[in-house]
Amino acid sequence: LHEAMHDALTGLPNRILFMDRLELALRRYRRDPHKLFAVLFFDLDRFKQVNDTHGHLAGDSLLVTVVSTIYEQIRQDDTLSRYGGEEFALILPGTTLAASRNLITRLKDAIAAINYKLDGHFVIRITASIGVASNEPGVAHFNEPLDMIKAADSALYAAKHAGRNQIIEWEP
Ligand code: GH3
Ligand code: MG
Ligand code: MG
Repeated sequence: LHEAMHDALTGLPNRILFMDRLELALRRYRRDPHKLFAVLFFDLDRFKQVNDTHGHLAGDSLLVTVVSTIYEQIRQDDTLSRYGGEEFALILPGTTLAASRNLITRLKDAIAAINYKLDGHFVIRITASIGVASNEPGVAHFNEPLDMIKAADSALYAAKHAGRNQIIEWEP
């Protein structure tokens, strides 16, 4: 059961478990609209170039490093998931968008500060683009997990479009 719900490389919850946690967060919010939370989608920038230059094994261990870097910044009740290849999704429960902005910036900066040393001398640098969606009174009202995912994903797309290494919040 653990294998069906987790990713083998990073040990993180996979997309299936993420969807389940998101559904749960939305259900809590529907019952109590004060239970706000934010959903973040991360996609690493120009990751294909890392693979092409240094090989897939280096790419794989960079992914693991990115995960532990994110982990150092978040709380135990936050859900970090490997949503796809080099895409991660994060649920931040019990927070307004305003209250989570500092953390999100810190996450972006921590990823950009990674100095991944390959064979002791090559240093690989990476950045991430981040899309954010949140149920905020008067701004957005998501009822369905897929609507929230679509919103975070389109914000992520906008962050890529705006030049990468950026955070964009979804707006209606
Ligand atoms: P950008 O997101 O900035 O547009 O460029 P990108 O090069 O990162 O493009 P995209 O997100 O579309 O592609 C992701 C690449 O990540 C393609 C694939 O080779 C690589 N990738 C996906 N999963 C893994 C993995 O598990 N290990 C390694 N090493 N590479 C992976
Ligand atoms: Mg990708
Ligand atoms: Mg990418």
